[in-house]
Amino acid sequence: MPHLVRENLFIGNITDAAEVLQSGTSDITHVLSVLSSASISFFTEWRSGVSIPAKEIKKVYFNRQRDGPAAAEEEEDGSRSSKLMYSLEYAGKDLKLVRMAVPIRDTESADLLDYLEPCLDFIDRSRKEGSVLVHCFAGVSRSAAIITAYLMRLEQLTLEDALESLRQSCESVCPNDGFLDQVMQDTVHQTYKRLYSLLVRFSSLQLKMFEDMGFKVDHGSSIYKRFHVKVLGDCYNRGEKIESDQFAADPSIAVEVQAQTAAPLNGEKKRVKAYRCKKCRRLIALEGNVVGHIPGEGESSFSWNKRRSGNPFSKSDETDCSSIFIEPLRWMKAVEDGGLEGKLSCAHCDARLGYFNWSGIQCSCGSWITPAFQLQKGRVDISSV
Ligand SMILES: [Zn+2]
Ligand SMILES: [Zn+2]
Repeated sequence: MPHLVRENLFIGNITDAAEVLQSGTSDITHVLSVLSSASISFFTEWRSGVSIPAKEIKKVYFNRQRDGPAAAEEEEDGSRSSKLMYSLEYAGKDLKLVRMAVPIRDTESADLLDYLEPCLDFIDRSRKEGSVLVHCFAGVSRSAAIITAYLMRLEQLTLEDALESLRQSCESVCPNDGFLDQVMQDTVHQTYKRLYSLLVRFSSLQLKMFEDMGFKVDHGSSIYKRFHVKVLGDCYNRGEKIESDQFAADPSIAVEVQAQTAAPLNGEKKRVKAYRCKKCRRLIALEGNVVGHIPGEGESSFSWNKRRSGNPFSKSDETDCSSIFIEPLRWMKAVEDGGLEGKLSCAHCDARLGYFNWSGIQCSCGSWITPAFQLQKGRVDISSV
């Protein structure tokens, strides 16, 4: 049975979802499926004999083609090569339910952040129009992570408080008046203990980032950039080809376009740090492309560092490092070629600027940056635009 978490908001597993979709219920009008595949045929593959009718409303793809900070925004019916963000369809008996399906794998490294906001918006809308069941396969980690993020945003709760609140509301719906014997009650209790620990393992890092970005996914923030580079690294390690449309815009092109189209507001243009090729002065990267690290810390620094307040990846204390690490940019032809490592050369004069290595590079301060796209400070000029 799905568990009520808040008014008009339920959490459940695939069995609950199949039941709701096949038979319909008066309680639930919307379903948010978080499974490794967005296709409705997942239910048939899961249990033969289960067949759920569905009629597509729309599919929304990631769009990284666009230049600028909004590069990861969604686009309807994008080209087939783009990655699916979610599908929306009428589903179930008499096509009465609205189902949003989001393809997220059940692994610790799965990218949750990039899908989070459309999920939370869908839950919001659904609760106004009816009530929504959020489910994954086991009804434990992925669905609980999304509901936790939803509670964080809705009620402005810290990750810890939202987790605790979810745990309490799940426990409170467990019958305790004699319908279950003690053994069963212990089993239920164990399930929620397991839920709690799985959730913490699965996505607490990403949910903590969500909290630190102010309960939104801020694509321009250094927190998000760092996360995105990590996601690309995981894709590379799984053997996926990283298309250059996954890279951020080439600032030398983006800045020209911006200069032609955007008139500075109130006459004052905000100046940002710019990195240029020392030899030919071509613009290589902007301040916003830098992926910060904590000087002198090893790979462990990739786990969220609680000892520092604010953004632990503040760039201010990297002044002694001999390298700058940036996100992959569209001028990096050597990276596009697909090798594990190589030289980064200026797209204009071919001068060497640094190296890249998907397995990581050690900075002069001792920190390992993985994956690494490195500019050597001696080979670039720092100015502002
Ligand atoms: Zn150059
Ligand atoms: Zn360093």
